[in-house]
Amino acid sequence: MSKIKAEFVGSAVKPDQYPRDALPEIALAGRSNVGKSSLINRLLNRRKLAHTSGKPGKTQTINFYRVNDRFYLADMPGYGFARVSKAVKAAWGRMIEHYLTSRKELRGIVHVIDLRHPPTADDRQMYDWLKHIGLPAIVVATKADKISRGRWQKHLKQVREGLSLRSGDPLILFSAQNGQGRDELWRAIQEWL
Ligand code: GDP
Repeated sequence: MSKIKAEFVGSAVKPDQYPRDALPEIALAGRSNVGKSSLINRLLNRRKLAHTSGKPGKTQTINFYRVNDRFYLADMPGYGFARVSKAVKAAWGRMIEHYLTSRKELRGIVHVIDLRHPPTADDRQMYDWLKHIGLPAIVVATKADKISRGRWQKHLKQVREGLSLRSGDPLILFSAQNGQGRDELWRAIQEWL
């Protein structure tokens, strides 16, 4: 793939801070520390565009990345981090709910799950909610490199069952470490644009 033009354009905590040029948006959702930043960096071929961190739950903003002047990746704050206050959780919920239910530019969600473990209650709640709103979602099961090849199918099944995916619902095996699944994810995103 030719070189990707990608730039961080800003963080938003409220709607008037969202981009204004009406490009389509693809949002990323996932538990804190699941590997969203690493996925963004791998997808865009950048080492440090999105900040990976050992401090889960820190980012409470929606971070926008403009890609090839064609669309935005909107990185939503990670959910499911126990050590944040109720007030912060409530503010998070309002911001995300507003973004997901009213953002006209939004074409779909990339929902990032950890392949290693069964989906958590928070994962299920998020996925059910996306379906309820009617947003197209692709589930990406990441950290595939941490599971031996012979066990992938078992773990994919665990994700499918844990989220109650239907047979046609997309599920992509991914690794930010070795780039597995990257082309497939690109194709899926491009279909939304
Ligand atoms: P975020 O909080 O969801 O943005 O998660 P990060 O991208 O910061 O990743 C959290 C931790 O998981 C970091 O230590 C990453 O290096 C690691 N990580 C993320 N994706 C992968 C992956 O595909 N494979 C492996 N082995 N580690 C990963």
